[in-house]
Amino acid sequence: MLSLNERRNAVLPERLTPDIPAAVAQNQAPSADSAQASALSPGTVAQEVPAPEPPVPELQGEAIVMTAAAAPGIPAEQPSEYTAPSVPTTAQGADGPEGLNRAEAAGSLQQISGFQIDFINVGQGDAALVRCAGEAMLIDGGGAEDAQLIYAYLERRGITHLKAVVATHPHEDHVGGLAAALHLARADAVYCSCSEYDTKAFNDFKHAASAQGLEIRVPSPGEQFGLGNAVCTVLGPISPHPENLNNESIVLRIEYGNTGFLFTGDAEREEELEILDTGFWLSSSVLKVGHHGSSDATSYVFLDRVHPAYAVISCGAANEFGHPHEETLSRLRDCGTAVYRTDELGSILCASDGTNISIWAEP
Ligand SMILES: [Zn+2]
Repeated sequence: MLSLNERRNAVLPERLTPDIPAAVAQNQAPSADSAQASALSPGTVAQEVPAPEPPVPELQGEAIVMTAAAAPGIPAEQPSEYTAPSVPTTAQGADGPEGLNRAEAAGSLQQISGFQIDFINVGQGDAALVRCAGEAMLIDGGGAEDAQLIYAYLERRGITHLKAVVATHPHEDHVGGLAAALHLARADAVYCSCSEYDTKAFNDFKHAASAQGLEIRVPSPGEQFGLGNAVCTVLGPISPHPENLNNESIVLRIEYGNTGFLFTGDAEREEELEILDTGFWLSSSVLKVGHHGSSDATSYVFLDRVHPAYAVISCGAANEFGHPHEETLSRLRDCGTAVYRTDELGSILCASDGTNISIWAEP
């Protein structure tokens, strides 16, 4: 594991991804990512990623969006039984914006040979299942009303073991469904930005963890752990923000081959600036947009450093906060980032073969 100083020393120059529009057009991860991979972990990450398998026949053609190559090794799966909450049926099964079609594939754990993220549609909340080479991690679990959904989603994909469960912060729309996940699957580690928070949702989460003999751990910036062939690095929180727990969100960057994925929880501008100050590598192919697309997150200066080709916004249809805010969408447009929203598309799936990114909506 690299120390914080080693990571800081490994940081590349200020402007990290100058050629993003071209990268988007070619559907390649920013080339600087590979430079960083070798700078931080020479001879490991990039080389360990297996060569992509031949495309699965069912995935060729219209199923995959914005990529020339189909997601490798992800065969078709039957549609889920459960119904995602609070999303109009008109948003289900329809083509999304910018030509996004629904794929005929979702992929179970056993079937996934590469790297896949499921941004699970939990309405106004966050939940993402990350799978790589037979290992799985859950980042947030939606609200308490999503408990059954989360349980069924994981169960259907054969998840009985989670390498890590990450609650980015203790708010109910992130931890509410995590107890259900822990009732289904054994976890190796459970992380949150705090270990005490006096709400029923958090205490249910904590009790489910302790029933497995696990204590909630608050990770430190720079801490790393593996998930299959992927490397997860904790970038935040940096400092306490008792006045606004959003700014204590665990921020996690996952690197798989030459592709990077940044999860920011509900971090707002203050935490973004703190993370920028650390000098951590931020450039990522895909950004899970902070705070459901609220204008208080995804600041220009932060976005400039992340410079994602793709962004996923997890929010509820017609939510009371007006998320995502137009200011955020405007910034993402200015960055040339393609935006996918769970309120419009339902659950959004994202696969990487280490070089190419595929994004599609759950059928
Ligand atoms: Zn939230």
